[in-house]
Amino acid sequence: MKISKNYHTHTYRCKHASEDVKDYCHAAVEQGLQVLGISDHTALPDDRWPNIRMSYSELPEYSASIDAAKREFKDLVILKGAECEFAPEYHAYFKDTLLGELGFDYLIGAAHYFPLNGEWVGSYGGADSVAGLRAYADYFIESMESGLFSFMAHPDLFGNCYHTWDSNTINASRDIFAAAESLQVPLEINGYGLRKPKITTDAGVRCMYPWLPFWELASEYKIKAIANSDAHRPQDVSSNIAEATAIGESLGLEFADLSHLEK
Ligand SMILES: [Zn+2]
Ligand SMILES: [Zn+2]
Repeated sequence: MKISKNYHTHTYRCKHASEDVKDYCHAAVEQGLQVLGISDHTALPDDRWPNIRMSYSELPEYSASIDAAKREFKDLVILKGAECEFAPEYHAYFKDTLLGELGFDYLIGAAHYFPLNGEWVGSYGGADSVAGLRAYADYFIESMESGLFSFMAHPDLFGNCYHTWDSNTINASRDIFAAAESLQVPLEINGYGLRKPKITTDAGVRCMYPWLPFWELASEYKIKAIANSDAHRPQDVSSNIAEATAIGESLGLEFADLSHLEK
């Protein structure tokens, strides 16, 4: 399988990835990619959740470093993106500042946090109850409904803490798929999950995500999938995309074509 595109790439600015835009571009050229989307965890105007993202003050430099790479790497299509947690108060910022003023090519939606009982909780751990799972799904769907995101990252992230595939995960997943189908927002089969340490559950050892029963159920819907590396190191710029693609293909999923982003 020839892997030529990766739309999910981080830089050192998010504090849990290494190296910078140009390092990923060099690696992408070496690994034969034709399209590289840089999508670091977005800066937020109120610097909320600062531990996993650049500060707001770093945003102009992040944007400029991608613009510089676009000029330097003539044989690579480089896209300027960001991985974003949706909140209504950020809508205008994402639309007018990132996609508008700063010329971002696309945004990825991701539920690293979601509101539960009036408070934001982290998705690593926060969806470990029926109420948490329900809140995660509701937030995920609200993010898609915003119309801001070219695709949604690791929709099955809840599997890191909700360990049993049961009627609750099925209902939550069905709601996510129904919304993704009607809104036509692609869902990502995330390669980083395939590289992360496995977890042990009552049903055995598995990846936190991608969670296979989730994607098996996805095949009942007319959703579109996308496979990315979610690279946090340059050497991983195309890692596990083939494997993630193979999961979707084995289930007969259709894959999204994001070539319209290459304007
Ligand atoms: Zn990350
Ligand atoms: Zn990511």
